[in-house]
Amino acid sequence: MVHILNIEEDARKRNIPVMLDDGMEFILEYIKNNNVKSILEIGSAVGYSAIRFASVSDDIKVTTIEKNKDLYDEALNNISNFKLNDRINIILGDALEVEITGSYDLIFIDAAKSQYTKFFEKYKTLLVHDGCIITDNLAFHGLVDNPSLTKNRNTRQLVGKISRYIEFLKNNKEFKTEFYNRGDGISVSKRIAD
Ligand code: SAH
Ligand code: MG
Repeated sequence: MVHILNIEEDARKRNIPVMLDDGMEFILEYIKNNNVKSILEIGSAVGYSAIRFASVSDDIKVTTIEKNKDLYDEALNNISNFKLNDRINIILGDALEVEITGSYDLIFIDAAKSQYTKFFEKYKTLLVHDGCIITDNLAFHGLVDNPSLTKNRNTRQLVGKISRYIEFLKNNKEFKTEFYNRGDGISVSKRIAD
């Protein structure tokens, strides 16, 4: 029997960026406290976070999108081992290209940081009226607050993109966003009531 902690540890060893424990705790609390039942996740990796979310309660359904075929296969296998095939629907494809239907209480953005704004704009239409969009890795290991820590050009560009996403959230007229210093930096965006 595979344990969820083995999946997590094994992924970390291979530098697959699964959610940090503190960020995970934060989202699991959110799911419980807000009675979240349907979740859309962008970026499954090996299915670790999707399995954790689905394990909160047996009436939760997760749709999760992964573009890397090897990771998708691995996630599918993990989901089967946890007998969660009927509650976790994993889709192979680029989240900016695939067509997803349904409506979701929670949308979790945890894929390519350079595309965060595009993911947000595309998927907000699938959010229930009082739902929320949670984004992970806004701190990018502290680099967003301290860009001088990196000399690497690609990393610097990514830091710039995350900063612009944060500005996009702060200036958004449709959604109000709270930022939390948990895990690797998390935001929670909710529609402004009208
Ligand atoms: N949510 C996972 C970790 C995801 S890591 C967990 O915490 O367990 C980010 C994943 O997003 C990687 O596996 C990467 O292949 C995937 N990804 C990146 N860009 C994507 C895109 N445009 N569409 C779908 N998946 C994407
Ligand atoms: Mg993450």
